Parts: sequence; C-alpha cells; structure tokens
Amino acid sequence: MVTQLTDDIGPAALLPALQSMGGHIEYLDSFASTTLAKQSSLRSLYEELLLRLSPIAKTTDEDEIFAQWVADAIADSASERAKRLADASPLPQTRHQIVKTFRRNPDVVAEVLLRAKGVCEGCRTPAPFQRPDGSFYLEVHHVKRLADGGHDTVDNAIALCPNCHRERHFGRPPNSA
Ligand SMILES: [Zn+2]
Ligand SMILES: [Zn+2]
Repeated sequence: MVTQLTDDIGPAALLPALQSMGGHIEYLDSFASTTLAKQSSLRSLYEELLLRLSPIAKTTDEDEIFAQWVADAIADSASERAKRLADASPLPQTRHQIVKTFRRNPDVVAEVLLRAKGVCEGCRTPAPFQRPDGSFYLEVHHVKRLADGGHDTVDNAIALCPNCHRERHFGRPPNSA
C-alpha cells in the first residue's frame, strides 16, 4: 500500500502529509491510554512512510534560514514591521517538520577537542568558560560543511570558541573586506 501511495502521488507531495501525520501522532500520544491500538497502526504506517521518503528529505540549517528571515525583516520598512508585530501572536508558533540531519561522529569531536587543549584553533585564545565538569567549552566546526560534501573527519574539523564559530557561519568570508 505504501509503495503504491508513494508511486502514485510522488514522494515529494507526500512529505507535507507525512509531517502533519507526525503532528497527529504526537497529539494522540498526549492521550496515550485511550487510543493505543489506533496509534500503533498509525505509527507503523508513519514509520514505513518515513523510511521510504527519507532519501528525498533535505538537510537544512535552521539557524541560517532564520538569519535570512531576520535580514529580510531588517531590510523591510519600519511601518511594515510595526504592522506585522501588531498582528503577531504573542504565543510562539510551533510546527512539525521532517528534517534530515547529519549524525556526527563523536570520536571526531573528541579528538579535535583533545587536540585543541582548551584553546580556540581560530583566534588562539583560551576557551571562554568551563563546563560544569571542568572541561573547556569549545565547539567543533567542519571546515568544509558536511552539507557541501565535507567529510566528518579530524582533518576537516577545528575547535572554535563560540565567537569564532559564529563568525565562520555568519561573518564575511575571509577575503571580502
Ligand atoms: Zn576563537
Ligand atoms: Zn560550524
């Protein structure tokens, strides 16, 4: 049935339906005891569809998408922003989505953190603070992004302080002064 569904409609058209199904399952989960049977058949259909459709799901960088929305809002006129703010709900909106993410290798992160010895490999200053366990806080960044085909290897990763890390993602490219 699932195969027929995905072949008839086309997998891309099914993704939004699958997303709302995921939301529905979460909703049912909040009344777990009453709908267990219904839920489990729905859930197995959901999981089968998810498996079929996962190859076409896109990897997204939510931070970068949101940063673009902010840039668009800043570029808008003050009156447009004021109008939208006046109409906006004060309650934060939620949405369900199916996102394909990279599962990073924890050994790569561990090796890079050990290599850095608590010093940012970008600006060479010490990590800005320590975690509760006393370890130095640095973030491991892929020099060539995984989304661009970069490898999840020690050679393609550096440990950065939060400032340097944000700059790599959101700052000007090095030669654009
Ligand atoms: Zn740094
Ligand atoms: Zn990064």
